[in-house]
Amino acid sequence: MSDNVILGIDIGGTNIKSGLVDETGRILDTLTVPTEARSGSRDTLLSKLYALAAQLRERAEARGWTPVALGVGTAGYVHAREGRIGYATSNLPGWTGVPLRQEMERHTGLPVALANDAHAFAMGEAWIGAGREWDTFVCITLGTGVGGCLVLDGRPYYGRDGYGGGFGHMVLQHGGAPCNCGLTGCWEQYASVTGLMRLAEEGGIQPAAIGHSAKTLFEWARDGHAHALAVIDRYAEYVALGLTNLTHALNPQAFVIGGAVTQQGEFLFERIRSNVSRQVMPAYDGMAIVPAALGEHAGFAGAARLAWQRLQDGGC
Ligand SMILES: [Zn+2]
Repeated sequence: MSDNVILGIDIGGTNIKSGLVDETGRILDTLTVPTEARSGSRDTLLSKLYALAAQLRERAEARGWTPVALGVGTAGYVHAREGRIGYATSNLPGWTGVPLRQEMERHTGLPVALANDAHAFAMGEAWIGAGREWDTFVCITLGTGVGGCLVLDGRPYYGRDGYGGGFGHMVLQHGGAPCNCGLTGCWEQYASVTGLMRLAEEGGIQPAAIGHSAKTLFEWARDGHAHALAVIDRYAEYVALGLTNLTHALNPQAFVIGGAVTQQGEFLFERIRSNVSRQVMPAYDGMAIVPAALGEHAGFAGAARLAWQRLQDGGC
């Protein structure tokens, strides 16, 4: 076995998850630190990333491994070719426009791959997670928002700039719930955890009564609470409606779905699958719809995978 390792970093609004991964996808070490983005600036976040990369490198070298590349996944829209942040929301203040790939390369001396967090997540699942069996599948993350990535022949589909995969902003309901993208009725407004809380409220369950917790809502539904069950059924229909649109547009081999709600397992997935089967044209049916497998490791592992691919391509 080679002693080469890849550093992987996944920047979220709350935490930065990171780790050391070898060329075969074995996760050798992990390290999580708080992002604290709102209390800082672009420069404090950059300093934090430099320190984290240095710490990962020290850990690797202490065990006789040689870091050969760094992969970074980040919340926000990443301009893939230019290696900069095309746009980031107020979750990461000052992040828009940062030429992060060049900054990280300059500070670490390593070749760097930069990706959007949903693309990184998908590549982690494609490499060593639930997407391993397929070359072409769609990965969706159901969280505060809805992230997406089409994995096409083992690579993220970037589109013109790198912003491909914004499936959360497909409009499902004309004139529906307002979305922070400026449209109304986006899939994200129904399939995200935020959307689930709104569906609960519309279904007669005050979010405060369930502590604003999707987990509690699912517990109520499992216990047979009629309103909670109706909300989960409605939520599964909305999730399925987006998957149905994507099925007709892309005819994927599978869907891999991540995010905390997917821990609800078959209770949620059998509802999603039966709705999709009912909705799609018969010729399209039969793709797998499965939960993601790597949890919080997917992002940094996928970023590491992209860095490794970039190295193999000679693109560094
Ligand atoms: Zn939207």
